[in-house]
Amino acid sequence: MFHFNYYAPTQVVFGKDTEEKTGELVKAQNCKKVLIHYGSGSVKRTGLLDRVKQALEKENLAYTELGGVVPNPRLSLVKEGIELCKKEGVDFILAVGGGSVIDSAKAIGYGVANGGDVWDFYSHKRSAAGCLPIGVILTISATGSEMSDSSVITNEDGWIKTGYHSEYCRPKFAIMNPELTMTLPDYQTACGCTDILMHTMERYFTKGENMELTDSIAEALMRTVIENTKILKENPKDYNARAEVMWAGSLSHNGLTGCGNGGNDFATHALEHELGGMYDVAHGAGLAALWGSWARYVYREIPERFHKFAVRVMGLEDTGDAEEMAMRGIEAMEAFFREIKMPTNLRELGLTPSEEELKELAHKCSLNTGGHKGSAKVLYEADMLAIYEMAK
Ligand code: NAP
Ligand code: FE
Repeated sequence: MFHFNYYAPTQVVFGKDTEEKTGELVKAQNCKKVLIHYGSGSVKRTGLLDRVKQALEKENLAYTELGGVVPNPRLSLVKEGIELCKKEGVDFILAVGGGSVIDSAKAIGYGVANGGDVWDFYSHKRSAAGCLPIGVILTISATGSEMSDSSVITNEDGWIKTGYHSEYCRPKFAIMNPELTMTLPDYQTACGCTDILMHTMERYFTKGENMELTDSIAEALMRTVIENTKILKENPKDYNARAEVMWAGSLSHNGLTGCGNGGNDFATHALEHELGGMYDVAHGAGLAALWGSWARYVYREIPERFHKFAVRVMGLEDTGDAEEMAMRGIEAMEAFFREIKMPTNLRELGLTPSEEELKELAHKCSLNTGGHKGSAKVLYEADMLAIYEMAK
């Protein structure tokens, strides 16, 4: 078993009506002024934003607001947020929304706490020495950003989408009311569930050592997400299914499902970030479109992991032939993606990139990953290009 450092400091407040606790949770942070950060309108349409403001006013908490975060959140709004926070003396950010809003909040927090050009962190020129404290009211189960150490931002100058990781940005609290996710379009629910699965799959399919407890937690999480995504496809208002998926979303990306297995492949994520940056696709759909090609490219490196996945997650009858079972497991996963209307290649994602564009994707991916990425198989630019080609 490898060494690991598990750090999950976020207070999770889970259940129906928990957003009513916003005022007291923010007050406990002893802040002077709050920035309420949100997306492109869903929180206005659902009335959540008004309820959040009322909750802050009830506790006499001063706030300012900045909406307009788009999926694949952009650097220009982050910079606007940093200036606003400085001008208004903001010392706490309340992200009301999904991964895009939370990641944007984290980037603003880095910019205010460290000064200088915030893109330096995302382009790995400098390390952050802090981040403004962040609270979350989650409206979509997907990224796990409500507990994660990660923030992914798109720089419109060159359409580069890249992430920065540090412990400073882990939210202080996350309010998670599964009911808030019931207004999601079915497509976004499916994208979110795919992302949740992928955060654990990226930790499971590695060359690391086996750790039975961690593997079992990961497998239970993946089975739970698959089962409940199918339930939500039939009945999007199923509270228990919404709750299972929501909690899975947080646990899938707070480090738990990779403890001790030397985890972290995250090559599919790296490949997808380029699609998000260049074509503005939904993150979960981009992952589904690439995963099968990645899996076929790498499975011979770790057939036993894919074999275990086929039997213990996809529930396939074991023939004992690792390579055959590995391939059947990959096919079963792709069948699941099709069942929930996720794409399994770039064409189904609505993309028909030219050869030049595929090369550009691979080149950017290699640059953004420092030349290589992956654990199951370490991928270099030529491998990245091969996978994009397979995914056409
Ligand atoms: P999102 O981009 O935050 O939101 C997707 C869409 O869902 C938006 O159009 C949003 O609309 C809408 N929406 C959200 N909640 C809703 C609700 N309750 N009802 C109706 N519509 C709702 O989705 P996400 O998947 O959570 O975040 C994706 C981003 O996070 C990507 O950039 C991805 O790369 C990144 N990511 C981050 C991490 C991490 O750990 N930091 C991990 C994986 C991925 P509104 O804007 O109108 O609200
Ligand atoms: Fe993700």
